[in-house]
Amino acid sequence: MLDAKLAELLNNHVNQEFYSAYLYLSMSNYYNEEGLSGFGHWFSVQAQEELDHAILFSQYLHNNGAHVALKTIEAPNANFTGFQEPLQESLKHERLVTGLIHNIYATANQVKDFRTMQFLNWFVKEQGEEEKTAEDLLKKFELFGQDGKGLYMLDSELSERVYTQTTEDI
Ligand code: MG
Repeated sequence: MLDAKLAELLNNHVNQEFYSAYLYLSMSNYYNEEGLSGFGHWFSVQAQEELDHAILFSQYLHNNGAHVALKTIEAPNANFTGFQEPLQESLKHERLVTGLIHNIYATANQVKDFRTMQFLNWFVKEQGEEEKTAEDLLKKFELFGQDGKGLYMLDSELSERVYTQTTEDI
């Protein structure tokens, strides 16, 4: 049985992953409305991955006899001042999520819940990749996104992202 505090943190994280999906959908909408459908597509794939993460946390709670309480999802920022802002915001957001996951991990470690630590290992690694991807995209935009031709090429590149369902053996 899961420790009560740990179960609460895992449950809160379900909401957090739904919020991430909401935030990335908001960014996707912004780019689509601005005519950058490649960026829009890239962020819609990002949102789908976050939904997968939310479901994985829910399944983990269920597999360990805990109740999943879905909560209100906060409305994300939808007013961006320029094409660069969502990229900066997504990097900031991924760093925040890394901190949250590390906090759950630290709690699991404290209560010697090795199974939960093992479950979280995948997410610890995933967050490293998410931060790197967000950093790379921001850097690319800084280098090439300021001029029309570069922006067009970058938008075309991002339109090719393929969604693959995230699964973890839990
Ligand atoms: Mg996630």
